[in-house]
Amino acid sequence: MVLSKKLWRTPLDTEKISLPKAEITIQPDLCKGCDFCIEFCPRKVLEKSDQLNKRGIYPPKVADESKCTICGFCAAICPDFAISVTEKKCKEGCEDEK
Ligand code: SF4
Ligand code: SF4
Repeated sequence: MVLSKKLWRTPLDTEKISLPKAEITIQPDLCKGCDFCIEFCPRKVLEKSDQLNKRGIYPPKVADESKCTICGFCAAICPDFAISVTEKKCKEGCEDEK
């Protein structure tokens, strides 16, 4: 049985609650260019950079941080610990950033 997307609904408090925003930190010089993070990110947040790192590798860069769900999979799968993902800390007045 295939469930129709019409059955999906928007939570009632969507207007009141803002989704946490991601802060993705990439340390380009630690990257060895395996591309696991780019290939396996479920939201396709990362893409290949056009800047070579010290190892002569094109590391990943963030294509669209707003799509990140902070699942942490890229950080977990990176063999060289070159990526970390945290929730962006809300500064005073960040209500406007919603
Ligand atoms: S998983 Fe790590 S080592 Fe592999 S491309 Fe991504 S940042 Fe580089
Ligand atoms: S935390 Fe998840 S969604 Fe965000 S960039 Fe990493 S793998 Fe993609």
